Amino acid sequence: MSPRATDAVVTGSLLDQRLKTLLAPGTARALAALGPTTVGDLLRFYPRRYVDPGTLTALGDLVKGDRVVVVGEVLRASSRRTSGGKSLFEVTIGDGHDEMRMVFFAQHAGRLGYHQKVLQRGCRAWFRGTVGQYKGALELTHPEFEAIDDAALDERATWPKAVYPASASIDSFQVAKAVATVLGPLHPGEIDDPLPEDVRAAHHLLPLVEALNLVHLPHTDADWRAARQRLRFEEAFVLQTELVRRRAQAAGRLAAARPGRAGGLLEAFDARLPFTLTAGQRQVGAELAAELAQTAPMQRLLQGEVGSGKTVVALRAMLQVVDCGGQAALLAPTEVLAAQHLSTLRAMLGDLAQAGQLGAADQATAVTLLTGSQPAAVRRQALADAKSGAAGIVVGTHALLGDQVQFADLGLVVVDEQHRFGVEQRDTLRTKAATVPHTLVMTATPIPRTVAMTVFGDLETSTLSQVPAGRSPVTTHVVPADLPAWMARTWQRVADAARAGQRAYVVAPRIDPDDPDPPGSEYDDAPADAAGATERRPLASVVDVAARLAAEPALDGVGIGLLHGRMTSEAKDRAFADFASGRVPVLVATTVIEVGVDVPEATVMVVLDADRFGISQLHQLRGRVGRGSQPGLCLLVSSVVGSSNTADDAPAVARLKALEATTDGFELARLDLEQRREGDVLGAAQSGTASSLRLLRVTRDEDVIVTARAAAQRLLAADPDLSAHPALAQAIAARLTAGEDDFLDRA
Ligand code: ADP
Ligand code: MG
Repeated sequence: MSPRATDAVVTGSLLDQRLKTLLAPGTARALAALGPTTVGDLLRFYPRRYVDPGTLTALGDLVKGDRVVVVGEVLRASSRRTSGGKSLFEVTIGDGHDEMRMVFFAQHAGRLGYHQKVLQRGCRAWFRGTVGQYKGALELTHPEFEAIDDAALDERATWPKAVYPASASIDSFQVAKAVATVLGPLHPGEIDDPLPEDVRAAHHLLPLVEALNLVHLPHTDADWRAARQRLRFEEAFVLQTELVRRRAQAAGRLAAARPGRAGGLLEAFDARLPFTLTAGQRQVGAELAAELAQTAPMQRLLQGEVGSGKTVVALRAMLQVVDCGGQAALLAPTEVLAAQHLSTLRAMLGDLAQAGQLGAADQATAVTLLTGSQPAAVRRQALADAKSGAAGIVVGTHALLGDQVQFADLGLVVVDEQHRFGVEQRDTLRTKAATVPHTLVMTATPIPRTVAMTVFGDLETSTLSQVPAGRSPVTTHVVPADLPAWMARTWQRVADAARAGQRAYVVAPRIDPDDPDPPGSEYDDAPADAAGATERRPLASVVDVAARLAAEPALDGVGIGLLHGRMTSEAKDRAFADFASGRVPVLVATTVIEVGVDVPEATVMVVLDADRFGISQLHQLRGRVGRGSQPGLCLLVSSVVGSSNTADDAPAVARLKALEATTDGFELARLDLEQRREGDVLGAAQSGTASSLRLLRVTRDEDVIVTARAAAQRLLAADPDLSAHPALAQAIAARLTAGEDDFLDRA
């Protein structure tokens, strides 16, 4: 028995009204466990799907094996024990012509109490399940079911039925009743609509209250489709308005224009480039050059396949800034990569980077490294060079973000290999400049346009799709870990490469066998070992594997090195140098080598427990080989392929198969996003029930996002501070207080 909602909602803010003041305590509690605690929450607790009574199958037309929804009246219901000692509850329904049996089993009779209570003789209900056959008669075993409210039946029999997320303590039908309680007294226009009327009109979208009514209580399929379309658009629009507004604000700040200089470093560098730039590099280069020449701060995302030559593009932009007396910072995700960038940049620049040294070119600058693990004296010097401006280019890790780091005139920030979504670094670095620095973010994992728009909504995107000529193809195979012959063959390939003067990487997910397993998969299919359901082999560790390979007859006499994050930086540098030079041609490593590492002689990449890695990680790892004249080979070793628990592991297998089938980064990025929890795509604050993106899927709703962004841009052009659109401003504010500015900040 719930108090009449109409009495309660006239006081206070309607949407903030607590459900426990409106509904029976048990119902409110059960709903709270599912998420909603206020009227506003419950109105936005949309049905998961709809059952269309138009597609009901008549009981006489059923075909074994079909998945069906049937409606009927319970003619007989009985409970008994099976010979196996289980409880069985059996119901026969009829539709006026034919009859059909519904069967429910349980270990304990108590489990069937709810079924027995609801499915009593004379009750009408719908059932959903797959048609099976027992002793010649068709039946449904354990169908989903829901009683049909008789009072509403006449009027509503033909309406699509909303199916809500439910739990053991509240079923979909009870949720629907609770929703009806708060929906009933809503008048059109009673809730301020964040979508302005002209936007609605332009895109043929329903007003808010009408959409809420139809999403919960549609009379036709067209109703709920229209309702969802409007609500989905609203989600995209509110988000894009905020992103576009942030972008406009950032663009409103001033950067120093760095137009470059005739006869400067950039010209000297171009003159000595040992290769011709690809058309893509030239085009993106021109884009960057033009933007750096402006006082509007550049905010650009450069995405380009592994090996597409992003570094040289970034370096040319950096030189343009240095030519104008400014400095550039290059931020790398790991020390290994930072150190490698330093040596790459110094090698490419030659005497152009030897300022202060004998034999430097006239206009030379200096390239300095700044990382967390440098000896104090080296670090002090690096800090001094950044502060005085002696270092035109400072390469570093997150240590660059430290408080003590100051620049004389930071003009450009380049963030490399930001292939994981969400980073705060850019903003921190920006604060180190007197004026706003220009920003270039580089990613090797292509990001679908919709995600770029949503996650990186304040960045413009450039793409390098072409890979320089002379790259070699990489073949990928999935190797079942449990087949000894395959593993022997794998180590033989490693040995062959090493003996042929090439290099091989062997990657493992852990450092030490005693380490706990790394946190589970990034995907929905987090492996069962978390719950202890299935026993798995312990994951491969660098230390273990290196020892095992040293004992492997095939690798007799072949040098095997180690590289992982717990080594000192000198040890890391040494291990990497030995590998690069070929002294130690096999490197067993963690994913520290995942990004950017560039050893042209590397031809074999073996990834152990490959199912534990994400698609983009594997694509990155694979990108470490085939960088020279020899074709590459990537072997993804996994014990889930060909094992018996394939049902649970299906998504992991699909990932590995996809990598085997294609090297197209865009295709892989799409599969990656589809498999990920939406929350991970947008940042932690987006996960779970707190997410305000209920209907919008960045992986699927490209059209909606593109349209909403354009509409948001138009609206903000006319009303930059949203003063004429308070409901929209409020909707944004509500989202931000829900903790979502977290991920917006990263964008
Ligand atoms: P990524 O985009 O993965 O960061 P890099 O910038 O590391 O790629 O480039 C990979 C390799 O390709 C480097 O050795 C680089 O010197 C080389 N490279 C870059 N551009 C070209 C080009 N236009 N022609 C030939 N080689 C190039
Ligand atoms: Mg790179």
